[in-house]
Amino acid sequence: MRPDVLSPLFATLDSLSGIGPKLMKPYARLLGRDMPRVIDLLFHMPSGFVDRRARPLLAEAVPETDVTVEVTVDAHQPPPPGSRAPHRTYVSDASGDMVVVHFKIEPARIERMLPVGAKRWLCGRISIYDGMRQMTHPDRILDAAGVERLPAVEQVYPLVEGLASGHLRRAMEAALQRVPDLPEWIPEDVRAARGWPSFREALMRLHKPASPHEATPAGGPWRRLAFDELLAHQLTLALVRAQEEKAGGRSTIGDGPISARLAAALPFTLTGAQEQAIAAIRADLAADTRMLRLLQGDVGSGKTVVALMAAATVAEAGRQTALMAPTEILARQHHETIAPLATAAGLSTAILTGREKGRAREAVLTELAFGRTDLVVGTHALIQDDVIFRDLALAVVDEQHRFGVEQRLTLARKGEAVDMLVMTATPIPRTLVLTLFGDMESSELREKPPGRQAIDTRALPLDRLDEVVAGVGRALASGARAYWICPLVEETDTSDLAAATERYETLQAVFGASVGLVHGRMSGAAKDEAMARFARGETRLLVATTVIEVGVNVPEATVMVIEHAERFGLAQLHQLRGRVGRGDKPSVCLLLYRHPLGETAKARLAILRESQDGFRLAEEDLRLRGEGDVLGTRQSGLPGFRLARMEWHGGEVEAARNAAAAQVRADPDLVAPGARVLHTLLHLQERDAAVRLLSAG
Ligand code: ADP
Ligand code: MG
Repeated sequence: MRPDVLSPLFATLDSLSGIGPKLMKPYARLLGRDMPRVIDLLFHMPSGFVDRRARPLLAEAVPETDVTVEVTVDAHQPPPPGSRAPHRTYVSDASGDMVVVHFKIEPARIERMLPVGAKRWLCGRISIYDGMRQMTHPDRILDAAGVERLPAVEQVYPLVEGLASGHLRRAMEAALQRVPDLPEWIPEDVRAARGWPSFREALMRLHKPASPHEATPAGGPWRRLAFDELLAHQLTLALVRAQEEKAGGRSTIGDGPISARLAAALPFTLTGAQEQAIAAIRADLAADTRMLRLLQGDVGSGKTVVALMAAATVAEAGRQTALMAPTEILARQHHETIAPLATAAGLSTAILTGREKGRAREAVLTELAFGRTDLVVGTHALIQDDVIFRDLALAVVDEQHRFGVEQRLTLARKGEAVDMLVMTATPIPRTLVLTLFGDMESSELREKPPGRQAIDTRALPLDRLDEVVAGVGRALASGARAYWICPLVEETDTSDLAAATERYETLQAVFGASVGLVHGRMSGAAKDEAMARFARGETRLLVATTVIEVGVNVPEATVMVIEHAERFGLAQLHQLRGRVGRGDKPSVCLLLYRHPLGETAKARLAILRESQDGFRLAEEDLRLRGEGDVLGTRQSGLPGFRLARMEWHGGEVEAARNAAAAQVRADPDLVAPGARVLHTLLHLQERDAAVRLLSAG
């Protein structure tokens, strides 16, 4: 049960004065939850800030910087009726004068806000126009009482339509009033050494900072709150791990025939790195402890085959394997790669995604429950309640950083002492591994299968589009297949979708019926069909949004065009590029960017041109994000974390992990009186997996 002290934080937002049912809608969109709660608002982080501390005289104000000036209103000059000219208000102080400009505003309204003869404080930026100081649409117009309340630093928040920043600030103010004084859960030595404020104080200072430094992810308040999150996560991992150790593992040993037939059926020889990974996994399976292993390897490095070999060993022991992928397309492709080899080896497989329905689904479930399926490949459809295994021994989770710990645990609970293999095609730097998974063994496939060729990567401005189209035309004429990627950052972004569809149409006008289209808004069946037609060569130029990002394998594709490459992260570009260069023919990747290119984007494209080592690119990606705009941190949020940002708070992972480990070692069920605060933390951070373990124990 959630401790009572937290109740005010988990009340829904409409319990705050000023938020009624109507405003719940925009807040729901803003905070990404149907019934947003006070805590969701408090954890809505600012995206920037305005420093309101500069209070110069007019004559001393630095143009184009944020200032607050104290002025007397001298006169109004409304525009002539029917004119589009602005309303001008003349103001002055002892040092000089200025004109305040408002477009499209009722004169009566502005005259009420700025009565002639009155003293007012204006916040905004001054520019010099025709030799005259001018402030256009001040951010704020305040009287003496208002300026009293003006904070030194004003936070700027991401907003959605239907929600004004003033409203959000007032709501935040009301939410802050609800924050109780909670007992401290961060070990005192950690907190004191860093000079961090208490939880309540941190929220106050983050949302109402006294200095700009405090307002950023680098400041103490944000760091403290991020640490809370890291600590809760590490505690969860440690508790789960302790429980798994207590429960023990099972030893799974194969007798070899299926693996031997599989090895014989492979149309290639395994690389040394693959052999090593398979050996390590077999040793883990055979040990009577639980396996938790990460299999890292660049796209196309051959992870699927490794997973398949592991499944063969498990099947030899009469037990089952589940392989869970993040998307429908990827699950199907895994299954297609696996099925022929599995059949040849006498390993029975099945697929289970959201698309298997009715009888077909029933049939899969029955086979699984009776243990007649050795290996099932699927999406998160695999973790539904009615999916029952006869004896699940191995769970393979592909691209796991898209899944939370919760999902991994749910899958693992479908068997007894299930061994876990996590595969990722985005090499994860060690710090991130610790953050996301805690302590974990790792196998890396750094060595690529033989015969792979380097991908000739070039960056071109978008205004050379015609040349690019001509080049693609030549490649198609010589029998090549090509991808054309358009950015679709969010599946719901209609303007991006329109751009992709338009590109499809213009390319179709040039190349006719050989052009296909696949995007995230299409139904699963339509997506698969579009991909399948491209794989079969019925279409030869595939316009795609980033749905093809992960795992898709068409070895005949040798040309990759990425539009607006500046909008993608390094790791993502590398993933996309990895769709080509999978066969034995030379491939090219053209990165089309729009002018002007920011420094970070420039660096990203340069590194990508020069390196094809996913491990190095992953490190660089992390570094570049850290060097980006201080507050341009939104894209680098960690999945499953609301506040922690790797580039800012990654350095604290170790401390959080140590603190969590020490706690759990000393008191594995967190029953000591001193551990009560950790229960509060876990509830606050909604770490359900940990909370369940504690209440069960
Ligand atoms: P990943 O899952 O790491 O992206 P896959 O396992 O899907 O890579 O392998 C990519 C392609 O390379 C597949 O077509 C696979 O059959 C092939 N492949 C895997 N291992 C080897 C190898 N040792 N030699 C040659 N080809 C391989
Ligand atoms: Mg794969």
